[in-house]
Amino acid sequence: MTKNYNKGLHNPTCPFGKFFPSELNRDDLYYMQLAYNEAIDAWNENNVPIGAVVALNGIVIASDHNQVDSMRDPTAHAEILAINKASQYFGDWRLIDSTLYVTKEPCPMCAGAAIMSRIRRVVFAISDPKMGCLGGATNLNSLPNSNHRVKISSGVLEKHCRVLIQSFFKKVRIRE
Ligand code: ZN
Repeated sequence: MTKNYNKGLHNPTCPFGKFFPSELNRDDLYYMQLAYNEAIDAWNENNVPIGAVVALNGIVIASDHNQVDSMRDPTAHAEILAINKASQYFGDWRLIDSTLYVTKEPCPMCAGAAIMSRIRRVVFAISDPKMGCLGGATNLNSLPNSNHRVKISSGVLEKHCRVLIQSFFKKVRIRE
């Protein structure tokens, strides 16, 4: 079965609304809500709705969303795009002390990128038992000889992010 989320002439508009979190309370939920908003942008461009934010010291350094289908690029995951932007912002490949927020547990590529970029912490909403590489399917963070480990938190805004992705796939299946 081929999966082409761009096919068809249907309006891809996401039926879910964005969050408008208070800037006064910059906790994990605040940043995850911004990542969720990016995921909605992904949906509106006909991509699987996953969003990511890189934050440091209370400031959003970079954010982006999955664009695999719209860019026809298998590496255009939300985390990779956000990490690239953050590196450009810092002028450095090391994202030391930064936190990556993402609506779904990072895949092998993105978990690898998070570790390679020396990100301090990864916070994800829903775990992925199929491809998640920070504990869901396997854990790249526990490579015995690795010289960097990320701190991991999960479950932030889990229900919303899960419903968003499940609804997207339901809509795609109806369309096909
Ligand atoms: Zn990925």
